[in-house]
Amino acid sequence: MDTIITPEDLQHRLDDLRNSQMSIGLVPTMGYLHDGHLSLIRKAKSENDAVVTTIFVNPLQFSATEDLDTYPKDIESDTFLAKEAGTDFLFTPSHKEMFCDDVLTAVSVQEISSVLEGASRPTHFSGVATIVAKLFNIVGVCSAYFGEKDWQQIQVIKRMVKDLSYRVEIEGCPIVREEDGLAMSSRNVYLTEEQRKEAANIPESLLKAHQEIRAGERQSTIVKRIITERLDRSSAIEIDYVELVNGESLKITDQIDEQTRVLVAVKIGSARLIDNMNALKGLDR
Ligand code: AMP
Repeated sequence: MDTIITPEDLQHRLDDLRNSQMSIGLVPTMGYLHDGHLSLIRKAKSENDAVVTTIFVNPLQFSATEDLDTYPKDIESDTFLAKEAGTDFLFTPSHKEMFCDDVLTAVSVQEISSVLEGASRPTHFSGVATIVAKLFNIVGVCSAYFGEKDWQQIQVIKRMVKDLSYRVEIEGCPIVREEDGLAMSSRNVYLTEEQRKEAANIPESLLKAHQEIRAGERQSTIVKRIITERLDRSSAIEIDYVELVNGESLKITDQIDEQTRVLVAVKIGSARLIDNMNALKGLDR
């Protein structure tokens, strides 16, 4: 595995590979790698000749009140894990290498960026779309792997690719979970032991909802209430939203069908945690 820090160096290396007809898999991350990230790298490796994993804590997607300065980091462990999982090029630019100057350009995907996560974090998806657009321009033709844990993020990126004609295939990958069902996240380290136990209520609320849906329930309001009531049992959990939406348009649905996605966001202590599932299929396990 080669570690590369400048966009120009990565561009040249990947141009050489493409000239030899090699396919490229891209896995963008903010580091502090866990099994969720590694599942993307492994999938990219199994479907491509070479894998680029990027580690960049993107300041554009954090608001002034968010955790940019305290976002967890461990580059030594990340380097080891990324290599073990099959990364060929680890791209770890510093802020200076990514942006020599202030950033004056922004990519913004309208409508689907302003609901759900976007309602609480108005500038978040423009920050995500801008950095992902930049990575796609640096890496070029490739398949890019994203986790379904960030369901809305995938929809925003898919739409950007379609609207701006990027020559990138977007591959969504299932959510990897801890033993008790909590979706793995770099932000889980913010939880105290007690809060970590309470966080298991998130997947449990989705499981409970899925049981009802399996038993025939199709009304979104009822399923939403089941989840909310389950989460409200924990005083540590502050609900941001529980919504049932069409998985692509992200528009709220009254009646559950194959396209319905159930999305949840909560705060526990200083951590903001999200989870989601297909309403009919249930949790990825
Ligand atoms: P992050 O480092 O949090 O920006 O995440 C980088 C990529 O890993 C994104 O595509 C995430 O959706 C994905 N990811 C994060 N957590 C998980 C997880 N538990 N399961 C699957 N993919 C994940």
